[in-house]
Amino acid sequence: MKRQLIVAGNWKMNKNLMEAFTLASGVLVKAKKMSDQVEIVLAPPAPYLHTINSMSKDTAHVNIAAQNCHFEPNGAYTGEISAEMLHSMNIAYVILGHSERRKHFQENHEILAKKVSAAIKAGMKIIFCCGEPLEVRASETQERFVLQQLEESLFHLTEVEMKQVVVAYEPIWAIGTGKTASPAQAQEMHQFIRKQLATKYTPKLADACSILYGGSCNPSNAAELFAQPDVDGGLVGGASLKPEDFLQIIQARAKQT
Ligand code: PEP
Repeated sequence: MKRQLIVAGNWKMNKNLMEAFTLASGVLVKAKKMSDQVEIVLAPPAPYLHTINSMSKDTAHVNIAAQNCHFEPNGAYTGEISAEMLHSMNIAYVILGHSERRKHFQENHEILAKKVSAAIKAGMKIIFCCGEPLEVRASETQERFVLQQLEESLFHLTEVEMKQVVVAYEPIWAIGTGKTASPAQAQEMHQFIRKQLATKYTPKLADACSILYGGSCNPSNAAELFAQPDVDGGLVGGASLKPEDFLQIIQARAKQT
């Protein structure tokens, strides 16, 4: 089974409007000339979603992701954005379960399960992040930790719904720290996640599910991470803010097809 290769850029809370426009244009101009084997996903801050989605409309292998959504479709939730709204703007993906949302916004398993259901119900695809903190890695219990994240927030989905999910393994100790998981550590966890998907759903679904690595992915380490058989691409934070670096990571993925 040939899985969809994906490189996604999570811009987090960075860039003003002009900077965001420049960054998106820089990526899109080059992306148009690239092979469509690698799906490119841009996750800009919410205020820029509509503009950047319009800019990318004629490049079929580029999709846009929101960085968050609320679990209710509408209502008295000042400041929030629903999956229904995102879907009505033709935004393809929403990132859920990012460790920064878990840490700074107290998004626990239960809240995330509700967000996952809301996004699927609205017709969106999900990039679901999981990954362990350093102390869990130090105690060698990372598999149990990640399995619990999957079981409690994702595995309530039906098999049909689960096909709309991309999993991103993002060890917290590697996010924004410059410390990357070794290719062997990434492969081991990606293989474990795929095995859990096969057990919970079917081997066919597990085989078709794209699993991305995230955590200080950059132009110098991307190729060896992407060379691992269960690493289908990357969720990139810091390096996605520099078009040259992000494009090099996409090229690294394209070369390993
Ligand atoms: C992220 O925030 O999803 C991420 C992987 O960040 P960074 O690449 O900066 O570690």
